[in-house]
Amino acid sequence: MIHEPLIYKISDEGKRAYKLPPLDVPEKENLLNNLPTRETNPDFPEVSEIEVVRHFTRLSQTNYCIDIGLYPLGSCTMKYNPKINEKIAGLSGLSSVHPLADDELSQGNLEIIWKLEEALAEITGLPVCSLQPSAGAQGELVGMMLIRACLEAKGDPRKLVLIPDSAHGTNPSSAHLCGYRVQEVKSNEKGQLDLDDLDREMTEEVAAVMITNPNTLGIFETNICRISEIVHSRGGFVYMDGANMNALMGICRPGDMGVDVLHLNLHKTFSTPHGGGGPGSGPVCVSQELAPYLPIPRVEKKVEEFVLDFAQPKSIGRVQAFYGNFLVAVKALTYILNLGSAGLKEAAEIAVLNSRYIRACLEGTYHLQYETPTLHECVFSDKIQKEHGVNNIDIAKRLIDFDLHPPTMSFPLIVPGALMIEPTETESKEDLDRFVGAMLEIAKEAAESPDLLKAAPLVSYVRRLDETAAARNPILRWQPGQED
Ligand SMILES: *Cc1c(COP(=O)(O)O)cnc(C)c1O
Repeated sequence: MIHEPLIYKISDEGKRAYKLPPLDVPEKENLLNNLPTRETNPDFPEVSEIEVVRHFTRLSQTNYCIDIGLYPLGSCTMKYNPKINEKIAGLSGLSSVHPLADDELSQGNLEIIWKLEEALAEITGLPVCSLQPSAGAQGELVGMMLIRACLEAKGDPRKLVLIPDSAHGTNPSSAHLCGYRVQEVKSNEKGQLDLDDLDREMTEEVAAVMITNPNTLGIFETNICRISEIVHSRGGFVYMDGANMNALMGICRPGDMGVDVLHLNLHKTFSTPHGGGGPGSGPVCVSQELAPYLPIPRVEKKVEEFVLDFAQPKSIGRVQAFYGNFLVAVKALTYILNLGSAGLKEAAEIAVLNSRYIRACLEGTYHLQYETPTLHECVFSDKIQKEHGVNNIDIAKRLIDFDLHPPTMSFPLIVPGALMIEPTETESKEDLDRFVGAMLEIAKEAAESPDLLKAAPLVSYVRRLDETAAARNPILRWQPGQED
């Protein structure tokens, strides 16, 4: 296999993708009107068109993506994103619109935002939604800022936020960034939030409980209504991390469980690309009580006209340039309208079914810390394979040799050696069986030839990396003259 060099290494001075013919009209001076310009050229690589195309095409072929195969990263909901989403988002009236265009020129676009906010409000059972946050984590921060603003307006600012020990790391960070002290609440032997522990910790100093439901073990918090009652009776708010809505959409609604505010990840549940495939979006949905504090601008419907409303005196202000990642909203609305309410429900049901199928096939071969039934994902551990000296990293690396993406590793933290598997609804039984087959084969290898697993991956583009060295001595920027 060819090892693709950095593009700087194939750069040569003067190479261009194309050249314009010599100028045959008088040259015009000072086109930029004395605007500030850089004095030296940036250090860009200089390459021909074919070199650029081949370089990036070769790189793309060394990577794994959802269009190649199953991508069972737990908590991340790596579902296949139907191409119709991209087709609609590519329409020029949507992709070429200028964010500073007047409201009257952007009626269709504002309507899309408004419709998606309405749809998400309906799906979550919370009456008001804002699409502005750009990611789940920013949605969390905005949600906590709303709670803070509302409590401060009541003259009861409070200091603490309670978070279960199974939570995603972004939960405590968001609460902390918002100025709160974070206190952990323990999970019980069923892998659920411990009600007695919550009852004890839930004092009048607590602003909110941040809870993920189903939680990061894939387990539904069956006491959620009681949890909300306890929190509300002491003047706190219930924040729900909605990253796992793929298990619930169309089936039940957090708003009906007493949740006051939640974020969604459009790039998880609502079929928009993750990370490298485009920007994310983490809308927040809130109760009427928190709605006045939502970020500005809000999209409002006035009789037959949509307007961007900046006149929200209690708003926490802007959290974003313009109005969030608009084309992501277009893709999510396309997905929702394409499936319809029955289709969304079916997607959630199949997501749960697929995960339970994998659990049933691997249970016994891989260790499960909790007996409790799971929804859209399940968390195994490497406990059985550890007896042969094989850990979850070895298992994950070996999966790469089977042309499969590994599951999420070592999270949630309450499961030592975790392998967190979320197949999503878009995988066929054949693909699930291929994954299960690989996992069973790896378990066999772990017992019979553990050394093989220690050396994996054996046939991948990049072999096992020295993770300690990479963490201790990260090389984040290549400099001319330096080795790869
Ligand atoms: C993905 C995820 C987040 C963070 O979302 P981003 O969009 O990556 O910022 C928060 N909580 C849970 C449970 C998640 O799975």
